[in-house]
Amino acid sequence: MRFHHPWIFSGAIASIEGKTQAGDIVRVVDSNGDFVGQGYYNPLSQIAVRLLEFDETAKIDAAWWDARIAESISRRRNIISPKTDSCRLIFGESDFLPGLVVDLYCSFLIVQFVTAGTERFKKEIVDSLTARLKVEGVFERADIPARKKEGLPQQSQLLFGKSPPSRMIIRENGLSYEVDLIGGQKTGWYFDQRDNRLAVADLAADSRVLDCFSYTGGFSITALSHGAVHSTLVESSGSFLDQAHCNLRLNHLPESSAELINADAFNYLRKLRDENRLFDLVILDPPKFAPSKSNLEKAINGYKDINLLGLKLVNPGGYLATFSCSGAVDWRLFRTAVGWAAADSNRKVQIIKQMHQAPDHPVLFSFPQSEYLKGFLCRVE
Ligand code: SAH
Repeated sequence: MRFHHPWIFSGAIASIEGKTQAGDIVRVVDSNGDFVGQGYYNPLSQIAVRLLEFDETAKIDAAWWDARIAESISRRRNIISPKTDSCRLIFGESDFLPGLVVDLYCSFLIVQFVTAGTERFKKEIVDSLTARLKVEGVFERADIPARKKEGLPQQSQLLFGKSPPSRMIIRENGLSYEVDLIGGQKTGWYFDQRDNRLAVADLAADSRVLDCFSYTGGFSITALSHGAVHSTLVESSGSFLDQAHCNLRLNHLPESSAELINADAFNYLRKLRDENRLFDLVILDPPKFAPSKSNLEKAINGYKDINLLGLKLVNPGGYLATFSCSGAVDWRLFRTAVGWAAADSNRKVQIIKQMHQAPDHPVLFSFPQSEYLKGFLCRVE
């Protein structure tokens, strides 16, 4: 039985036959000479081969990319609706297209060619996307650290049609958001939290919300639109808060319904604690604390600290929604860290829901690395 994990690390390769360059398609065999898969190679990367295909007879050509891209698009047919016009269309390895990320923003595509292998097939990929989707433009975001490891340039560029406007408005769950596709975080929007914004907002009626690490306000705006009376957004980047301000207006929410705090969340939460402030719903959605396994201990302590601070600010009977997007911190570790915080807080804390990345970021059994976003919705007494 083979699990079909798509990565072959360089240390697992005994020998390489023939001349190969970064991005070349190679055939991988095991120590018995039995076929393992076909994939692309990069001598610069520790992930020396990413397997694309487990059928020995398949040819990896334009038609192959087109078929895989078509399947990936068709998997999202239940996500796009009049209420949601944007989502991740291709999630790399999890969509059987290692190294390729494609996000649909209304009528524009943002593409990330993460590896030399996908860079090599850029033309085939863009041709397929533009033939299958009626888009106004395809823009490449190349400013991703992974490309450095692959020996690829960081220069973003327009690949088809026209550039997305700097102020572009998308719809999610019936709400509108301004996104900056060229300068924003990720490719402009955290699609992975789409369903969790709704799950959290379901509990928000009549509540005062504290939205830490708010980015441009996705959680707050959903909560306010579901009956929350006020939200305090805490974010270290002023420009993201400016966008959050626009997003409040776009959704006809009064200025008085939100307070935008440009601060380090750790410091600000301590300040709120010292002032004995309480909120009915506290949301913690920090950036990755553990970029890799080597930062694990520090990351776990970080999760424990922020969750302890967060729990202290919850009104009795209120809720904490807490997330980790560190792939290296698995469910068990994250639960342990929040559990330590719960114990130290002297509060009664119940998990009432586990939250996960949205379905346009599927998790592949054979690729556990694809599971990165974990969340607990907790009732706090
Ligand atoms: N909750 C957001 C996504 C959060 S991403 C959403 O639903 O869209 C994490 C955010 O935390 C980023 O916007 C980043 O700028 C911000 N951030 C990073 N470090 C921070 C800190 N120490 N204090 C406050 N915000 C921080």
